[in-house]
Amino acid sequence: MSRSTDVLIIGGGVAGVSIARELSKYELDVVLIEKEADVGWGQTKASYAICHPGARWAHGTLAQRMMVESHRIWDQLVEDLDIELARIGELVLAFNEGELQYVDTLKKQGEYNGIKGLEILDGSEVRRLEPHVNPAVLAALRMPTGGVFNPFEVVYAFFENARANGVKMLLGTEVTGIIPQKGDFIVETNGGEIRTKYVVNAAGLYAEKIAQMAGADTFKISHETKSTCLILDRCLGDLVQHVVTGVADPKAFSRFKVVMPTFHRNLLLYTPIPEPSRGIEDRAIEKRAMDLTLQSTKSLVPDIDFETHMIASFSGLTARNSRGDFIIEASEKCPGFVNVALPPPGITCSPAIGKQAAEVLRKAGLPLVEKDDFNPFRRKMKRIRDSSMIEIRELVHRDPRYGRTVCRCEKVSEAEIVEAIHRGATTLDGIKFRTRAGMGRCQSNFCGPEVAAILAGELRRPYEKVTKKGLGSAYILNKKVLRTYGH
Ligand SMILES: Cc1cc2nc3c(=O)[nH]c(=O)nc-3n(C[C@H](O)[C@H](O)[C@H](O)COP(=O)(O)OP(=O)(O)OC[C@H]3O[C@@H](n4cnc5c(N)ncnc54)[C@H](O)[C@@H]3O)c2cc1C
Repeated sequence: MSRSTDVLIIGGGVAGVSIARELSKYELDVVLIEKEADVGWGQTKASYAICHPGARWAHGTLAQRMMVESHRIWDQLVEDLDIELARIGELVLAFNEGELQYVDTLKKQGEYNGIKGLEILDGSEVRRLEPHVNPAVLAALRMPTGGVFNPFEVVYAFFENARANGVKMLLGTEVTGIIPQKGDFIVETNGGEIRTKYVVNAAGLYAEKIAQMAGADTFKISHETKSTCLILDRCLGDLVQHVVTGVADPKAFSRFKVVMPTFHRNLLLYTPIPEPSRGIEDRAIEKRAMDLTLQSTKSLVPDIDFETHMIASFSGLTARNSRGDFIIEASEKCPGFVNVALPPPGITCSPAIGKQAAEVLRKAGLPLVEKDDFNPFRRKMKRIRDSSMIEIRELVHRDPRYGRTVCRCEKVSEAEIVEAIHRGATTLDGIKFRTRAGMGRCQSNFCGPEVAAILAGELRRPYEKVTKKGLGSAYILNKKVLRTYGH
């Protein structure tokens, strides 16, 4: 394949899809390339999905400015794209004199950063709001603009709306080389070459590698910090009402431990454990990190048997760059090549990142002529789980497959799985992140085979060609392999 485009975005994480959606407002030919079978499977998938209020980031950094700007945009975007964001607020608990000083300083920094509504609550107010927190709590900083996203929904919203407005999405396509040529770039991929005038490098952990390909690397990416996160059953999702955080390292403002409900009311636990990664692909979950997380988060919410209710865990690597701040800039050496390298909190800042990248491209010479027919709206899927009995009756009347439950833990119907496929899912994980089928207590033990059968039918693929997450992750071993193992 050989094609050409005005702008080529490398990476379908939250940054890439947000930039794609922003550029889809203009008369441009835009292509997004993602090496995985779906969007959002890099760092974005590994996030805890906190919508950070922004107090922890130093004033004047690009990350802090993007956060302020994003908080201005989020509410409108939530309406336009039907994004799942609940502004439940964050409580930072303090248990001793040192931590009291920390929350006081955090409040001052937050106010300096322009965050509204910050207040210090005394211990009794905190216990009234959150009866399950450690009764030894002395005070807490309340940050009402904080919240929780469904991170997948954020990515799919940008992705679907960008695609509906004309952006071409090449999934399962890996960039392997970039050759600057007479003011253009020839981008080599495993699916052929693409000629483009502008490249946006939003490759996350791989951004340094991509920049090197074009000779536009002015930063290093470290992938040495691995974080582990534990997910507990929804029966504990109402244990706390806020994102409850505690001071993990008073010297490092960004290091905090968390007990929080997710958007869909699971309970999520996290503590920063300095866990060195064993390479850029390391996603192993260490028992030590799990034990320390359970132990440490109990200091925030004691007396709950977290372990019995744990249903899943994951770990993720954070792409920290050598400048310690967001990088969204055109390369001086290669005009037309824009690097986007984001340490956390990229999801919180995603609305402003799209706009900032478009502005950098404009300054680099890309003409931004607004389209007359840009459609800013996108609606999320109907879910029987969130529907009233009357709505369910109407849905079943429209399509009887809404009446057939496939995932019993999360109440996901066959119709929702089919719709997820029509929206772009081609793997079991793609279905899971769009519908929650397989995210419940049984972790897909019951619904997995049926979801795979629906995928095979809709995609017209043999059952054994269905994968969990793309190439090399067969859900069921084919007959030849089964025979090799004596079955
Ligand atoms: C453990 C953890 C917790 C976090 N918690 C939060 C939080 O609570 N709130 C928050 O706002 N932020 C959080 N973050 C930060 C946030 O997740 C990131 O800032 C954000 O996801 C970065 O998005 P991205 O698009 O830049 O990178 P990624 O999501 O990593 O996307 C990069 C994409 O590029 C693709 N790619 C790479 N190389 C190639 C290639 N050669 N060809 C084609 N495609 C390629 C990758 O497959 C990937 O999909 C957290 C991060 C981690 C790791």
